Amino acid sequence: MKFKDMPYERPDIEVLERKIDELIKKQQDAKSGEEQFEINKEYYTLRKDFETAYNIAYIRHDADSTDELYEKENDYFDEILPRWSNACIKYSRALFDSPYRAYLEEKLGPVTFKNMELDDKSISEEILPLMQEENALTSRYDKIIATAKIEFEGETYNLSLMGPFARNKDRNIRKKANKAISDWFMSVTDEIDEIYDSLVKNRTAQAKALGFESFTDLAYCRMHRNSYDKANVEIFRKQIKEYFVPFVAELAEKRAKRLGLDKLADTEIGVYFKDGNPAPVGSPEEILRSGQEMYSDLSAETKEYMDFMMENELFDVFGRKNKAAGGYQTYIPNYESPFIFANFNGTSGDIDVITHECGHGFQCFITRKDEILDHNNLGMETAEIHSMSMEYFTYGWMKNFFGDRYKDYLEMHLEDACTFLPYGTMVDEFQHIVYDNPEMTPVERKETWKKLEQEYRPYIDFEDTEFFALGGFWQKQTHIFDVPFYYIDYVLASICAMQFKIKMDDDFKAAWEKYLELCKLSGSDYYTNMIKKVGLNSPFEDGVVVEIVEKLAKKVI
Ligand SMILES: [Zn+2]
Repeated sequence: MKFKDMPYERPDIEVLERKIDELIKKQQDAKSGEEQFEINKEYYTLRKDFETAYNIAYIRHDADSTDELYEKENDYFDEILPRWSNACIKYSRALFDSPYRAYLEEKLGPVTFKNMELDDKSISEEILPLMQEENALTSRYDKIIATAKIEFEGETYNLSLMGPFARNKDRNIRKKANKAISDWFMSVTDEIDEIYDSLVKNRTAQAKALGFESFTDLAYCRMHRNSYDKANVEIFRKQIKEYFVPFVAELAEKRAKRLGLDKLADTEIGVYFKDGNPAPVGSPEEILRSGQEMYSDLSAETKEYMDFMMENELFDVFGRKNKAAGGYQTYIPNYESPFIFANFNGTSGDIDVITHECGHGFQCFITRKDEILDHNNLGMETAEIHSMSMEYFTYGWMKNFFGDRYKDYLEMHLEDACTFLPYGTMVDEFQHIVYDNPEMTPVERKETWKKLEQEYRPYIDFEDTEFFALGGFWQKQTHIFDVPFYYIDYVLASICAMQFKIKMDDDFKAAWEKYLELCKLSGSDYYTNMIKKVGLNSPFEDGVVVEIVEKLAKKVI
């Protein structure tokens, strides 16, 4: 069914809560695992109905902020979502305590139950007021960032609109833009410091109330880190520092030369070519059409997927007035339809939508018949492998998007992916230090960041831009405030996607088959098991990162 024809009906939370209570009762009265499994299907139906309505309303609201109907629906969902999650957690508990647990685990998978256990550890009545306060604090931070008014060359811009100036091909414009951004941050950094300080103390109090030693342990539960722990991540970070940092330093040197500079500064973050980064050549319509051709060539499965997406009008990617900013991929379960929302703006980011977001969508499409809804509950370190690997699998078609500059694009893409790893790892280590030492002052936190910059990005000079020189860069990184510890996931996924890149350069077809296998595994097993099953090495094993670096170095240096 075309997206525009999908009917919408508001779910009634009172009715849903009653139905969930009935299901809990039925589960408690059930006489066998088989019976419980059947009852669980009714629960899945409720969830699918809810998610279908929610996603349709959400997308239509984003598509046109002046549409009053969906504005109201959006407000309604904001209001009822906590009640809905609460009802679902209550239901999970009933299943978790089942006397037929062994049978259910066999059917639903061990990960489902492990995640229930982690959810259960992460919440209690006692911490609800703290959680509300935490939400209020993150909203305050989000609002400061979203409503930033930056004066630049006689106009006022928000932070995301400053992006193109900060990456302009003219270094002077970049310098001025960075100064304007820095000045703005200097004017709000005291307030951001105060918010973050309260967040750290609040989260630490939540962790203590739940019996954890520090917030880090609670965050690992919240993030469903069900197959690796702090010690594993530490081994991984060490490898990144030891092998990726010097490798990226070499790439930075090469890039500086290309840009005609002795050393990169903060003005060169995201800047790869003297005459500007490569941008797609076609119109937005042509980009979509090239995308369809590309997926037709790539494999039978991707052809079926992309034809389905186009046929059912499941892309809303062209820029338009009254449309929400940003982009995402989501899934409408009752119509087995992925949906991709974006705002094409003429940069290489438009092609990321066609490769990266379409990679997420492809994985949803390929597993649309999976009966076990919990398998969709993927960890981000797995989900991002699907999308990041698709970026590499589509390298061979980039000429259709970038014309003569496709080689520049490929060079930029791989350099950018490599450059991200030290940064992503630094964001993770910073948070470990912060939550291990909740009494640190705001000044000490900035000093910590500054020290980490020297360890992870010694090839970038931050001294000329006041706010960055002070160690304030992390205040731009919204994840640190909104979803603590959600960041190493990208790095862990990227390391796996890079392994696919190395494999596909040897044998494209064999690598594709393994990728397809991983997509189909969905969330049926733990991250560490699934990557092993498809022949990838675990990033937590010593020696894995150095091997990847050696192989990639041959491709890019
Ligand atoms: Zn993604």
